Amino acid sequence: ALAEKLQETLSDVRGRGTLTEDDVNKAMREIRLALLEADVNFKVVKQFTQTVKERCLGAGVLGQLNPGQQVVKIVNEELTALMGGSSAGITFSPRPPTVVLMAGLQGSGKTTATAKLARHLKEAHGSSVAVAACDVYRPAAVEQLVKVGTQAGAAVYEQGTDKDPVDIARWALDRAKTEGKDVLIVDTSGRLHIDERLMQELKDIRKAVKPHAILLVVDAMTGQDAVNVSEQFAEAVDFDGVVMSKLDGDARGGAALSVKAVTGKPILFASVGEKLDQFEPFHPDRMAQRILGMGDVLSLIEKAEQQFDEDEAKELERKLRRDEFTLEDFLKQLRQIRKMGPLASILGMMPGFAAAQMKGVKVDEKELDRIQAIILAMTPEERRRPELIKGSRRLRIAKGSGTNVQAVNQLVKQFGQMRKLMKQIGRGKMPDLQALMRQ
Ligand code: GDP
Ligand code: MG
Repeated sequence: ALAEKLQETLSDVRGRGTLTEDDVNKAMREIRLALLEADVNFKVVKQFTQTVKERCLGAGVLGQLNPGQQVVKIVNEELTALMGGSSAGITFSPRPPTVVLMAGLQGSGKTTATAKLARHLKEAHGSSVAVAACDVYRPAAVEQLVKVGTQAGAAVYEQGTDKDPVDIARWALDRAKTEGKDVLIVDTSGRLHIDERLMQELKDIRKAVKPHAILLVVDAMTGQDAVNVSEQFAEAVDFDGVVMSKLDGDARGGAALSVKAVTGKPILFASVGEKLDQFEPFHPDRMAQRILGMGDVLSLIEKAEQQFDEDEAKELERKLRRDEFTLEDFLKQLRQIRKMGPLASILGMMPGFAAAQMKGVKVDEKELDRIQAIILAMTPEERRRPELIKGSRRLRIAKGSGTNVQAVNQLVKQFGQMRKLMKQIGRGKMPDLQALMRQ
């Protein structure tokens, strides 16, 4: 997969003491191949590697200390920029209802995304949402929206399949106003291919409801095709952003990497499964980090937050802010993390554990047992103030835990690093992954 190829290439340069122009050229060649294999648009690949190379050479990377780190950093930044920089979202209209029009080919995932977006807006913003069933052609399309829309907690506005979709859209907008909805999402019909009729109908609906946002739903699994379709849509009916659907099935990542560069429109949401809650705002920086195997610290924290109960999370946050996080808390957290399930997948999200490295590697649960044993062998005072752990204390803890002094030292040191990371996150800052990787 793309992630593994890039990780391989970059781990080649990462540890290097110095880099020559040849090294950079070689790395760029490999990155180019990896991206092409991942089905990234060839123009995008060319532009991307050129930019990265120029930046690498221009940044005075050659001959410097830790040049590989800088190459990784540049690749990471450029991947993020390629996918649109920071995450955008939907801008709500100051005069509700905010109208969102969903467009896309048949089977791209529009109806699913309509319900998912409704659920998301309801959960994240507390919006009252209605969805309008304007696909009157596809058999059972209306029933499908009634089903998933209702599940999502949205009001479903439908008039069966006998009416004109433009009239339905207009009627739905009136009703959303009357009923005081915050958001109206209009689900439309698609075709297998882009054709005049589809585009005309979209334009007519657009004229009738004047949407605040038009979202193009694109099937990530179709790779280059997805990008071509987006390009054609961009020409015919302008849209504001992309919902990348079926990203869960797209091992190559090509569509996600190309769409912004080709159409100029950002990916706003990612749909990552058939279930309604498998939908999230798209974060280019997180996606880039995932691709580079730098670990997705934020996803990890979100996952952890889901597991921790609210009070515990608040308490932890307070401690992080005040820098009171202790080994006692660490022990608690370690137990929480182990509760979270397959350890490999958790570690895969942490910096320093590239997915490629995790492949086939058995996580050493025994090592975690050892860590727990060491912490348990400390006095409560030592757990709160690890800086006390020196000399004879070390030996006592080593003996008490059935380990050795080195293991105790290492744990104390790692804990110090972790504390630093926690402090950064506690301050709401993205931790400096580069710095952490260097340690
Ligand atoms: P539409 O024709 O554009 O309205 O597409 P649908 O919403 O009906 O989706 C087509 C198929 O793709 C359905 O079987 C969905 O369950 C499936 N689907 C939609 N989004 C996703 C996704 O993010 N992941 C996966 N695995 N399947 C999806
Ligand atoms: Mg549909």
